[in-house]
Amino acid sequence: MKLSQLTTYLEILAPLAYQEDYDNAGLIVGNPDQEIHQVLISLDCTEAVVDEAIHTNCQVIISHHPIVFKGLKKFNSKTYVERVIEKAIRNNIAIYAIHTNLDNVLNGVNAKICETLGLDNCRILSPKQGLLKKLVTYAPTSHTDQVRNALFHAGAGNIGNYSECSFIAEGTGTFKGNEDSDPYVGEPGKRHTEEETRIETIYPANLESKILMALILAHPYEEVAYDLYTLTNQHQQVGSGMIGELDIAMDAEIFLYQLKEKMQAQVIRHTAFTGKQIKRVAVCGGSGSFLLKHAIAGGADVFITADFKYHDFFNAEGKIMIADIGHFESEQFTQQLLHEMIQKKFTDLPLRLTSVNTNPVRYFI
Ligand SMILES: [Zn+2]
Repeated sequence: MKLSQLTTYLEILAPLAYQEDYDNAGLIVGNPDQEIHQVLISLDCTEAVVDEAIHTNCQVIISHHPIVFKGLKKFNSKTYVERVIEKAIRNNIAIYAIHTNLDNVLNGVNAKICETLGLDNCRILSPKQGLLKKLVTYAPTSHTDQVRNALFHAGAGNIGNYSECSFIAEGTGTFKGNEDSDPYVGEPGKRHTEEETRIETIYPANLESKILMALILAHPYEEVAYDLYTLTNQHQQVGSGMIGELDIAMDAEIFLYQLKEKMQAQVIRHTAFTGKQIKRVAVCGGSGSFLLKHAIAGGADVFITADFKYHDFFNAEGKIMIADIGHFESEQFTQQLLHEMIQKKFTDLPLRLTSVNTNPVRYFI
């Protein structure tokens, strides 16, 4: 199959528009039209991982972390980043990164952590603003369903577990075409009055051009009247971190024992026990210290993440226990998540999880 078939599917599950500003998710090396027969999945794309792809006959590496974050100006094998890119290009190996866009979706990195920890009632810890917009358009009543169906088909009208969400109101529209017009109803040069339906619906901003194209194709008028509204609503299915609950509250020490085992952490750096039992749990794979205030506001008893700095530990203020399990450890099951996601759609495509331990951190215990 073509590489683009795989990347298009991944970008439906984790749209590139959902990545953070600093990120570089997407196809980093490769031609979308190139043929792929086997995929290598990894958390990081190191030289050893590219070697593995070469030796195991994989044509594409799907990696969580992008190998390239900043612009590269030279390719002279000086840094590991340059060497990875050079080797991948020389060997016709594509590199695709699915990073903060996979962190920020409902069934992404953090959902996998919640699943591993057995949490229920999980929701996004810090939902994102600015991703939703509203469309209002006016169609002749005879075409209400045709227009509405086209908008739904293009991705409008989804709110949580509900699809096909819209509101309609009947009214009267007027228009007068000039001599160059060719109106669907009425005559050029004469004001026409038409019974119309006002259709309102919501849509993800990243689908705007697709939705407008669907509107224009489904609408019978030569000039389609529509309004686009920017919303300040949060998108409840997109954002950072996740919060959920354990079945039964447990002592902090027992919780940490289980956390260490389930997340295969060699060591957990944590703040003092708060004296409360652990019931509500906030998580963020990777560097999540920016979410501490959201975890506290969400009433979490513990916040599991990585890369906490010394001074940031003080901000727990006895309200919550911070548990830093290590960056690699917090995200390692993302590889299984990617495997499950891809296998579900492309059942015949051979997938390999890397056998390279890409964690650059070692623990001397
Ligand atoms: Zn990470």
